[in-house]
Order: sequence, then C-alpha cells, then structure tokens
Amino acid sequence: MSLSGAAAVGSSRNLRRAVEFGKTHVVRPKGKHQATIVWLHGLGDNGSSWSQILETLPLPNIKWICPTAPSQPISLFGGFPSTAWFDVVDLTENGPDDVEGLDVAAAHVANLLANEPADIKLGVGGFSMGAGTSLYSATCFALGKYGNGNPYPINLSAVIGLSGWLPCAKTLTGKLEEEQIKNRAASLPILVCHGKGDDVVPFKFGEKSSQALLSHGFKKTTFKAYGALGHYTIPQETEDVCAWLTSTLGLEEMLALFLSSSSSYLTLSRSVTLHLSRRTTLSSLTMSTNLSTHAYAGNPLKSKTPKSTDTFSPSSAFESLKALIPQIPNHPTPSPDFKVLPFSKGRPLVFSSGGGDASTTSPIWHLGWISLADCKGMLASRGVDLDENSLVYLGPKVEEDLVCWAVDVSEEEEDGVVSGLESRKLCFVELRTLMVAADWVDQRAMDELAIAGHARALLEWHNVSRFCGSCGGTNVAKEAGRRKQCSNTACGKRVYPRVDPVVIMLVIDRENDRALLSRQSRYVPRMWSCLAGFIEPGESLEEAVRRETWEETGIEVEDVVYHSSQPWPVGPSSTPCQLMLGFFAFAKTLDINVDKEELEDAQWHSREDVKKALAFAEYRKAQRTAASKIEQICKGVEKSKSLTTDFNVESGELAPMFIPGPFAIAHHLISTWVSHSQGSKTLPLRNLCYSPRSEPLWRPPSSDDSLGQLRSHSPPHSDRKSNLVMVLSDSLPARSRPFPVDSPVTTSPPATIWLIWIKLRKRLDPKQVLSFLLSS
Ligand SMILES: [Zn+2]
Repeated sequence: MSLSGAAAVGSSRNLRRAVEFGKTHVVRPKGKHQATIVWLHGLGDNGSSWSQILETLPLPNIKWICPTAPSQPISLFGGFPSTAWFDVVDLTENGPDDVEGLDVAAAHVANLLANEPADIKLGVGGFSMGAGTSLYSATCFALGKYGNGNPYPINLSAVIGLSGWLPCAKTLTGKLEEEQIKNRAASLPILVCHGKGDDVVPFKFGEKSSQALLSHGFKKTTFKAYGALGHYTIPQETEDVCAWLTSTLGLEEMLALFLSSSSSYLTLSRSVTLHLSRRTTLSSLTMSTNLSTHAYAGNPLKSKTPKSTDTFSPSSAFESLKALIPQIPNHPTPSPDFKVLPFSKGRPLVFSSGGGDASTTSPIWHLGWISLADCKGMLASRGVDLDENSLVYLGPKVEEDLVCWAVDVSEEEEDGVVSGLESRKLCFVELRTLMVAADWVDQRAMDELAIAGHARALLEWHNVSRFCGSCGGTNVAKEAGRRKQCSNTACGKRVYPRVDPVVIMLVIDRENDRALLSRQSRYVPRMWSCLAGFIEPGESLEEAVRRETWEETGIEVEDVVYHSSQPWPVGPSSTPCQLMLGFFAFAKTLDINVDKEELEDAQWHSREDVKKALAFAEYRKAQRTAASKIEQICKGVEKSKSLTTDFNVESGELAPMFIPGPFAIAHHLISTWVSHSQGSKTLPLRNLCYSPRSEPLWRPPSSDDSLGQLRSHSPPHSDRKSNLVMVLSDSLPARSRPFPVDSPVTTSPPATIWLIWIKLRKRLDPKQVLSFLLSS
C-alpha cells in the first residue's frame, strides 16, 4: 500500500491469480431502481456483512452488489490466507502496490456492473482495502484503462472510499494530462471519509489520498474527517454517505416515499428508525398513521373503487368481458384489457424468478397472471367453455389500462388442465407458503400477497355459498362476482362475501413487566403467540377480549386498548376471510388456569425472554427457505402440495421459543410491547412503527461477553461494529488470552479480528495468534 508508489509485489508467488471470488450478495432496490453500486468489504470480511448494513440505509433507489473477495495468501499475515481484493505487504506509506491484484479486483467490479440497464447510474464504493479498490477503479475510469493497459469498460458516476487509501497514487503523475482523461477525472464525484482515530489505516493515508486525487485533477473529490472514529463506521458517516449519494446521483428523496400512502410502513420505518434513532424517539413519529399496513392489507387493486359508470367498474368491465369472450381468439385488443389469476383449491398460480445462480439472493415469486385467451384455451382443451360468470372481479390497474379477474380451476386441475401451465414453469402454491416466502420489506411482494389474499377469500366464499341458505336454491354470481343471489325468483335472497371478525390480544402484566403468551397444539414446536377468538353475536370488541381471555386462561382483564387490524385470508375455507382486530389487554388478576380444550399452554413471559423470541434470523431463514421451495416446485423438482416446514429450518442456535413472523399481527402486538421502554406505565398505543432490525434484538455488548455472544447479537450495524471493536480492544490489556473466543472463528477472520491482531502484532507472533484463532 503506498501513496508514494513503489515496485509491484507478486514475485514471491508465481502461480498467482487463479482467483475464485466468494459469494455475491445483492440488495434489491425497495423503490424505483435508479443506480447500482458495487460495495467492497475490507480485509478478511465478506459481502454478506456489508449487504446487511446497506439494506438498512434509506436509499430505496439503489441496488447494492456486495461481492466477496477471493481467499488468498496475505503477505502481511505471513502468507496466511484471508479474503482480500489484493495482497498487502505492509501497512506503511512506502509499501509496494499489488497492481496485478488491483486489476483483477477492479475488473471483477466492472464485470458486475457491465450488465446493468443503460439508464442506471453506476458506482463503486468500499471500506478499507475495498476503498482502495474503489479509488483504484476511479483512476482506471479516468485513464480509460487498467494498470495492465486493457481498456476500462464502465462509465462511473460515483466512487466512495471509507477508511481506505488510494493505491498507486504516485504512478499517476503525468498520466492525466490528455484532454479526454482530464475531463473524465474532473467529472467523477468521489467521496473519501476517514476517522482520526483509525489505528489500522492511519488518518493521514485517507487525507493524503484525497489531496492526491484533487492534485491529479479529480476536482469533484470530497473529503470528510471524523473526530473519534476508528477503523469502523458510525451513523454520522453512513448518513453523510446517504446524503452525498442522494444529491450526487439525483435520487428520489425519502420524503417522496413518506407521502405515498401505498408504501409499506415496514420499509419506511426501517429507514426512518435508522435516521431518527439518534435524534429522537420512535413514539414522536407522528406521520405513521397512514403507514401501518399489515400483510394482506393495502391491496393496490382496491385502492380506488371506480364509479359504476367508469369503464373500470365491475359492471362495465363485466359487460365488456361478456362481449369479448365469444370473439376470442379472433378479437381486437380491448380497452381496458383483461388478465386472469387462476386458483386451484385455494392456491394461486405463481412463478418464481431470481435465485438459482449463486450470485443473487433468494428467489422471488410472482403471481401467474394469464391472458383471457390463454384462460379460454386452457379450459377449452378440457372441453369446458369459459363463462363470464365464473370469473370474479378483483379490481383495475388503471395506469396499465387493465382489469384483473380471478378464476377457480380446482375441478379442471384434477382433470390435468394445469399440465400446460407446468410447461411454462407456473404452479399452484399454498398462500401461507407465499406469505412466509414474501420479503416483508419488499413493497411489490406485499402488494402481490394482498391481491392473492383478496382473491382467495372471494373464491373460497364463492365455493361455500353455492346454495341459498333460505330455500336451498342455487346462488348465482352478480356484480361481476362481488355478490350472489338466489336464482329462485320466489326467494331472490342476496348474499355478500363473508368476513369473520376475530379479536387477538396481548395480555400484559404491568406490575411485573410480563406478557401472557399461549400455545395451541396445532402450532409448530417452540411457537408461542397471543390469545385470540371469534366475536360472538351481540358482543362488543372489548367484551370479546375480556371473555376470551377469561375463558382460555382464567385471567381477568381491565383496560382494553385497540392497536390495529389485519385481514387474514389464510384460515379454513369455512371462514374465507377473518379480520384480526388487535388489542392490548391489561390484566387485573395474574393466576393462570388454562382451558386445555382451547390451549396447550399459557404462561407469563418476561420482557427479556420475549425479546429473545423475536427470532429475526429465523424469520429471514424461513423466508429464504420458503422462497427456494417455491422455486423448486415451479421447476417441477418437488410436487409436494403443502409445505409445513416453514420454521423447521436448520439453524445453529435455536431460540427456546419464537413468535409468529412479521406477516402476522401477533408479531406486531408483541414487538410493540417489547420495544416500548420498560417502566413506563403506558404503551404507545396507535400505529407503531416496527423495524425488523431494531432494538428488541439487541443489548449493548459488555466486556464480559465472549466473542460468540457478541456475534450472536443482531444490533443496529453501526453500534455493533463500533461496540464490538471497542469492547474487544478495551478488554485486551487486562486479559491473558489475546481476546475472548468461545466459538470457532471462520477461516477468514473478520475485519475486527484482523484489527485486534494488528493491535497485538507488536507483542505476539502473528502465526501464534492466527493459529489460535483458527484452532479455537
Ligand atoms: Zn333462496
């Protein structure tokens, strides 16, 4: 590493550069895709750890690609292998540069960016030696070629280097004179950040690097110094990076998202939490009223109900549909156009995309919409005529000039009608599996889930309301399937889609700071949840909460406070759509007397225990497992009709209990209570934001923690990095061991370990430290 430049290294390894890069993690944009940035980790780290940090940034328009460096022998480590973008010989100003390694790394970055759409702005950034690679890429971009002379193919719009340095700085002298090169250098925005407390890559390296960039004509270089920052990142720095990227790349501001009522509050709150956590508290966030959308709520097709005279209205669309069907397939394209979502036995048709190759995150499912012509053709192949009355109106997508319908093909599926669909990689999947597989911070996924839930509820209701409850006559669909009517003219009774209200309540023991959780025998092992029950005729919601709690647990409840509600279209077909009404209920008596016919068990749980039960990592894992299963089913690998193993996923350390995932209202009732500050007698009652990565999972590390304990936490990223480093560093002098280790350290020590090792280098033999690390 040199600012002054020196001979290239590599002579000691003639067989080098059979490089194999590690796993690449992709963070998809939560909003409109405007820019793609490759982010490079530091020495010994990996792409995964940074992807988790980048995912939490309030930059919904950026796609992040986080590759993992190849594992290679590091001269600095006496030849011990570590994940690294290039070789490092010494951490001095006159150390040699590994130009060959830098070229390989820069070319890998360029390859990752090469396939992005033409209108997407491209950038590269990184931490420590990742920053070195980024800044080196900036010079390649300006020069139009790599160090080895090959042309550099990417048009960069932003470069970021945190806690790093500019390799090969001195060799730039005289190379940037040509007009074209000068212009490219002058136009490239570069952000260099460095902490004055950095004892791994000294502050002066960052400072000199930015000066070198400016003196070589990179006029848009910005340098930011941070007082007490060491070799890690802090919220102030990430906020500066976010602000710089937003203005440099002309990204849509978060405010625009704020004002969009259709945005998922989960997505928002996560970003908001990050921004507000250090300045103010969540409870002061008053804008959340419109943002609290549970899974299955916020159906985009139902957001605007057209008037009956509108061409998108149920009656108008039905008339167009009726006229169109006989003309298929020899018909002109109608306006609005129609598409159909088939269901079989309550399962929507879906297909899976993404995943598969090792370079992306978990696959994504999409609803399997088919055209009206395909729908008619599919049924005709089984001798069935498409009847407009068998289609159920779901709603319009006005901006796409489209009206959406659902159709139940359960009977046809038994006749094998789906064989044609399977060849197109379409398959029917249980809605619950789709729910678990949906990324709850992905607005598109939650929109599709809501559409599927609404459609399933309507079709299930059609199934269970075939006959008139008054006279036994046949019910026929009316208003494009939005209601039914008895065909017996003497009766003519009208029936409407059924919704079953259910109260769900978290019972709280205020005095002892505990919550009442229960288990039903049908739950998967280890799962505990809130009490719940159907409302009886002639009963208020508050009465239902008190009665159910008393019946099931013998506990008497005083105050009952409403929280929020959630449509639940994944219950049994006899209740096609439950409406879950969520409450906090404050206990008056504490003795539990479980009704064993209703519940398997009910217990008071301390706040600490419930915190641990918010097994965020398990939700993510279950999400990925379910997403992969859907992909397998769609590929025809697995024909299983139900997937019950959503939570029986492999995990190194299973929590003793967990609560339902973020797709269920129970999760939000419980996490709201858990995240509210202890000792306060009142709960923030309305529309609370929930952040999947927020405080409930985290406590500040202490110097008594082992490394394994520290790692098992999932704290807000910046705190984790700084505290981990702080705690370990502080604990060093007092301990006889180099640092506390109680779990195997991976063969690639993370950056933190590397930092510790650097600190210890003066006192211990490096090989001794590393062999200790690897053997522990
Ligand atoms: Zn009737």
